[in-house]
Amino acid sequence: MSTAGAFWEGVKHMFKNRFTIKHPYQEHELPDGYRGRHLLHMDRCIGCGICAWICPEKTITMVPAANQKTYPQNPKNRFPQYWYVRCCFCHFCTDFCPTGALDYTKDYDLAEYEKELIIWSPERLSRVPEGHQGYQTEFHGRAGVNHILRTRED
Ligand code: SF4
Ligand code: SF4
Repeated sequence: MSTAGAFWEGVKHMFKNRFTIKHPYQEHELPDGYRGRHLLHMDRCIGCGICAWICPEKTITMVPAANQKTYPQNPKNRFPQYWYVRCCFCHFCTDFCPTGALDYTKDYDLAEYEKELIIWSPERLSRVPEGHQGYQTEFHGRAGVNHILRTRED
């Protein structure tokens, strides 16, 4: 392409819609079923470790809860902790969880300035995403029949 052609191409693009957004001031509209970070329902987790076993990226470590609550359904006090550096967001862990203790969310903004902060404890995973990013429960996995959509107001 000649210099004049390249210049003309640039001028034409000044009047076209942009495909980029001003993140984080603007947010993507995400479709239902988007596989963002996980939401852990600690009161449903039985500590079986299937999520850690099925994970292809070895993202999950089973750790004790750090809060002072008791979870009778989880007598060994073992919950998943995520090292999101490794996660590819396949959500096998969510789909194979036998009790529906894991959910998809639309929360994708997981970048941190300190690498230690990319480790998500069970308690942190159990926080409902803030803002417009609702979350979604899907019961579940292979049998996959009931799809229950919720927003954080539920
Ligand atoms: S989140 Fe689900 S799969 Fe993972 S340990 Fe808890 S119950 Fe088991
Ligand atoms: S989404 Fe996939 S890679 Fe990430 S923790 Fe779950 S199973 Fe592992």
